[in-house]
Amino acid sequence: MPIQILPARLANQIAAGEVVERPASVVKELVENSLDAGATRIEIDIDKGGSRTIRIRDNGKGIPKDELQLALSRHATSKIATLDDLEAIASLGFRGEALASISSVSRLTLTSRTAAQEEAWAAYAEGREMEVTLKPAAHPVGTTLEVLDLFFNTPARRKFLRTEKTEFGHIDELLKRIALSRFDVTINVRHNGKTIRQYRAAQTQLQQERRLAAVCGSAFLNHALAVELEHGDLKLSGWICSPQGARAQNDIQYCYVNGRMMKDKLINHAIRQAYEGTLSGEQYAAYVLYIEVDPHQVDVNVHPAKHEVRFHQARLVHDFICQGLQSALQQSLAEPSAQYQA
Ligand code: ADP
Ligand code: MG
Repeated sequence: MPIQILPARLANQIAAGEVVERPASVVKELVENSLDAGATRIEIDIDKGGSRTIRIRDNGKGIPKDELQLALSRHATSKIATLDDLEAIASLGFRGEALASISSVSRLTLTSRTAAQEEAWAAYAEGREMEVTLKPAAHPVGTTLEVLDLFFNTPARRKFLRTEKTEFGHIDELLKRIALSRFDVTINVRHNGKTIRQYRAAQTQLQQERRLAAVCGSAFLNHALAVELEHGDLKLSGWICSPQGARAQNDIQYCYVNGRMMKDKLINHAIRQAYEGTLSGEQYAAYVLYIEVDPHQVDVNVHPAKHEVRFHQARLVHDFICQGLQSALQQSLAEPSAQYQA
């Protein structure tokens, strides 16, 4: 075969292979878009584990009518414009690939209205080439993304979908992670028409602890030590379990860097080292931790799903986390009353 440029749809389907593994990956991309748009309320409707319907409605700033088609194109983003921006990313998204990828493997409708517009517009794309149809629609300021029949045109992928229950389980777990990253946002989740989760926006400490308990269980809250530390540009906050609160599974391990969920080796290592000697072989630490670092000091453009980061001063970050947690754990041994009495 001679060398040829791939048709747009095929190129998008290949890209979709990296970003869209299963319904939960679609939910992740769409909810992150809602958060980037400044939404304070996100309604999530799932049918059949996401294989039939994923509908996400937000009250963010919306997309102007004349940008709707562009929003569905590959490498089209409003979040970065220059290399400088790429080196200090403040938003969750920046690749401009999610909507193009998702629309290439589903029947997608994007409905949106900005505050400057009198009416909303809907863009419909079906496993599309480049054409998108626009129609007037009814919608308050904000955006709804509806994704129907995920992988309908990529049967090999569709075959890999697990049961409804398993796929919804992945979505639920993902939304727990998001609920812990943005206490200020209301997130409601329905599956097959039934309300499954209601995370109300939490302002007070009590409301935050309630959300923490809703996601991690009250046993975690009862053994939680609050952490709050600073060193130069670095900040570490959140909750860790006291050694008595250690778990038999590694099911409560949430970590965020500048608001982004991470599964990072360096961070995991630092946390494990902090607990060294306090846990037995079958015990796992439980934690919900937030690391804030100057965006120039961290590279998030490492992994397509953005699960890993690269810290420019890796050693410093590692030791800051490890020593910070060690001293929090030591204090808890010295004054156990510092723990929550819930
Ligand atoms: P990225 O998030 O990397 O920019 P996406 O393909 O996810 O790429 O989205 C493309 C663009 O569409 C975004 O840059 C944003 O301008 C717009 N967009 C997507 N979802 C929303 C939303 N829920 N509210 C407002 N704008 C959105
Ligand atoms: Mg995005």
